[in-house]
Amino acid sequence: MQNKLGNPQKTIEIIQKYEFAFQKKFGQNFLIDTHVLDKIIAAAGVTKDDCVLEIGPGIGTMTQYLAENAGQVVAVEIDSKLIPILNETLEDYDNVTVIHDDILKVDINQIAEQYNGGRPIKVVANLPYYITTPIIMGLFEGNVPIDNITVMVQKEVADRMQVGPGSKDYGALSLAVQYYVKPYIVANVPPNCFMPRPNVGSAVIRLTRHKNPPVYAKDPGLMFRLIRASFNQRRKTLQNGLNNSPEVLYTKEQIADAIESLGLSPSVRGEALNLEQFAAIANFFTDMKE
Ligand code: SAM
Repeated sequence: MQNKLGNPQKTIEIIQKYEFAFQKKFGQNFLIDTHVLDKIIAAAGVTKDDCVLEIGPGIGTMTQYLAENAGQVVAVEIDSKLIPILNETLEDYDNVTVIHDDILKVDINQIAEQYNGGRPIKVVANLPYYITTPIIMGLFEGNVPIDNITVMVQKEVADRMQVGPGSKDYGALSLAVQYYVKPYIVANVPPNCFMPRPNVGSAVIRLTRHKNPPVYAKDPGLMFRLIRASFNQRRKTLQNGLNNSPEVLYTKEQIADAIESLGLSPSVRGEALNLEQFAAIANFFTDMKE
């Protein structure tokens, strides 16, 4: 096909034709390596039975690969300058819908409903790095029906997703990944696979939804409010982190009781707790209300 993207020459040609200027604020680093694109599609296991949500299609390189392999593709792009480009690069595909919007404002449940009858969708993206965490947390916490998420992220973020207590990178994202999905690093991707080149290494990671979470939290929303409160103030003790958070409305005494119920020291820091312990604290508060 004349418009087939995926190599540096074609990308430069399109960019020059439309006088497109890369926008740093939108995290624009376009993929120009066909091997990486093939790997992403294979790792996501995209078939003609799938409806795929692509976040940030750019000039449509990965979108073309997805369109050829999936049943339906819905691509959400924030940059208005890319919309006329996408109209051209995707004109040969009748199974692609481009939505011009901010992914953080879009109702993804509604997309799954409209384009896949509410059945689980796949999410595939070369994510804009400045909003990786809110996008992934939003997909987890929004109860969107999702089969798997296969995304390019900063290498450092992929690492952060896989660590436990004791690591300086341990945080709310690591715990959310543990609770919701099984992570698998598909490939490490060097800066020369992108245009322009990012300053950091990247990795493709596949996140497959657990059928059942590894711990039982009666109210997962509450557990993640507690987790966020604990890590927002890393230097503080768990007791003070929870006391000072506007999201956590328990008294000092109730918080002390919860920490004691786990046999933990009153001076323990939140970053020392594992997922099971956060679930136990959340369940302590839920039981207290019942
Ligand atoms: N998928 C393309 C590729 O691999 O060549 C582009 C990937 S680039 C890393 C990230 C893309 O996300 C850009 O096209 C950027 O404009 C878009 N983007 C940034 N912020 C966004 C947002 N909030 N909602 C939707 N798209 C966004």
